[in-house]
Amino acid sequence: MYDVIVAGGGSMGIAAAYFRAKQGASVLVLDKYEIPNQMASHHGVTRMLRLSYGHGSSYVPLALESLKLWAELETSVGKELYRKTGAITIGYPDSEFVEMAIESAISNNIPYKVMTADELTDKWRGLDIPDDYIGCFDPSAGFLFSEDCLTAYKDEALKYGAEIHENEAVVSVEQEENFITVKTDKDTYHGAKVIVTAGAWLPKLLPELDLKIQPVRKTISWFKPHEDNLYGNDFPCYIFDTKDHGLYYGFPDFDDYGVKLGSMDNDINCEPDELNREYGAYEQDENDDRAFLERYMPQAAGELIDGKVCMFSRTPDDDFIIDVHPENPNIILAGGFSGHGFKFASAIGSILSDLSVDGTTTHDISTFKLSRFSKPDETLLS
Ligand SMILES: Cc1cc2nc3c(=O)[nH]c(=O)nc-3n(C[C@H](O)[C@H](O)[C@H](O)COP(=O)(O)OP(=O)(O)OC[C@H]3O[C@@H](n4cnc5c(N)ncnc54)[C@H](O)[C@@H]3O)c2cc1C
Repeated sequence: MYDVIVAGGGSMGIAAAYFRAKQGASVLVLDKYEIPNQMASHHGVTRMLRLSYGHGSSYVPLALESLKLWAELETSVGKELYRKTGAITIGYPDSEFVEMAIESAISNNIPYKVMTADELTDKWRGLDIPDDYIGCFDPSAGFLFSEDCLTAYKDEALKYGAEIHENEAVVSVEQEENFITVKTDKDTYHGAKVIVTAGAWLPKLLPELDLKIQPVRKTISWFKPHEDNLYGNDFPCYIFDTKDHGLYYGFPDFDDYGVKLGSMDNDINCEPDELNREYGAYEQDENDDRAFLERYMPQAAGELIDGKVCMFSRTPDDDFIIDVHPENPNIILAGGFSGHGFKFASAIGSILSDLSVDGTTTHDISTFKLSRFSKPDETLLS
């Protein structure tokens, strides 16, 4: 009998396991693949972290807490996990995404600078943007080495006594009289509490909840710039809200990886176990990304260096689900991170650990409650 079983040791699950094991609990982590892996939602080297936040100002306290916890993890493992590059959110006039980034910086007292198109292209010569676009520069932003973050939490969790079983898939999570039984493809385990963090597979593990989560196929591409030094160490992370190409995000060309980018749009609905994981299987994989670069960062649109396929788990409102199971206080669930969850994995891990103690947390997670989908708001129902 474990104090806590974590079903899915990806971004959120392995962080939760670390925090709970550190408190002295007996923790078992079960993952269908290795931790980290190339099959779920956390691979592809990097994930952006911003404080001026286009998805809403309620995320900013969580981002600040996450930044603090990532720094603590870096110190514990003695390895760089976060690189501060700054980030610019650029968009057309009246872009709600840019307005929200500015508003979230103001309301949370975060340093930021609003810049005109001229100011942006003067500072970063690699940009080519329409005259009426504006940008919000967030100097505290940067990127996390996502796979290294998972390895760091895994190593630390093991240090605090967690048991980790990789390549062992959870098949069912069932309530017994006063404990939970977790069946896998190899064995059966019992836990006082279970944290279910199976990413794109979450709805399958908790079918009774009919979760409004849609897994979607996403790609990321790395391009070699035509001109060296334009997009290197002095170039920030970027998010563009454009009229012609939708929402794009990307990373500077550091350590010769190339310029990396991906689209927040252009989703293809998928079933995680049948996902076509071959980059280039669809023409849009490379073509859409290249077309964006040719328009907004033309000197970056050189040879394709690499490409990967990943999944977002979308909720109808793109807000997360972090909650206690409505019919079973011993099951805690987190998912539906809608393509922007990684930066928060440290804080969410600590919240899930709290919830697995007595169902409460001092953090405000009201935005993430499941009950929002049972309200009669047609826009939230899929
Ligand atoms: C291309 C791409 C770019 C992104 N960019 C950013 C970014 O810049 N910034 C940002 O903040 N976020 C970003 N995200 C989003 C972020 O990576 C995700 O929100 C986050 O990784 C989700 O974490 P998770 O723990 O829910 O899922 P995962 O990290 O996928 O973990 C789920 C785990 O559950 C395991 N699992 C599944 N089924 C079972 C089972 N039956 N039994 C046992 N284990 C199981 C899986 O193997 C996996 O390890 C991006 C995502 C993608 C795909």
